Amino acid sequence: MSTDWNVHCVDCKSTHVFNDANHQDTLMALLCKHADAIADLAPLLREGAGQDIAIKTYWGDVDADWFARHRGHKLVPISEYGDLLAQGEHLERGVPTSAEEDPESGEEKHDEFEHASLL
Ligand SMILES: [Zn+2]
Repeated sequence: MSTDWNVHCVDCKSTHVFNDANHQDTLMALLCKHADAIADLAPLLREGAGQDIAIKTYWGDVDADWFARHRGHKLVPISEYGDLLAQGEHLERGVPTSAEEDPESGEEKHDEFEHASLL
């Protein structure tokens, strides 16, 4: 299932939206972790506007101004369905492997007996 992730400010209920950042909860958590550093770059990126200076991800640019506006706030990854990840929390990916039995291995081979009866 596709799940796009963004960065959410819990205090302001504001979301920094990326472009279809499918399964990027880890990247969003990383951005939250370094939110202060990103906010610190906001003046540089503002003054450098038009010089193609930016913080880029594969899923779109990081808006340092947004991080500056929410400096010191509680930022967490948010899914497109509104699920929040607490800081440091990890999503388990994929389906847990069930202890499925191999139908072949459970059975004894009877070939030897069949051969023996033919003799
Ligand atoms: Zn905020």
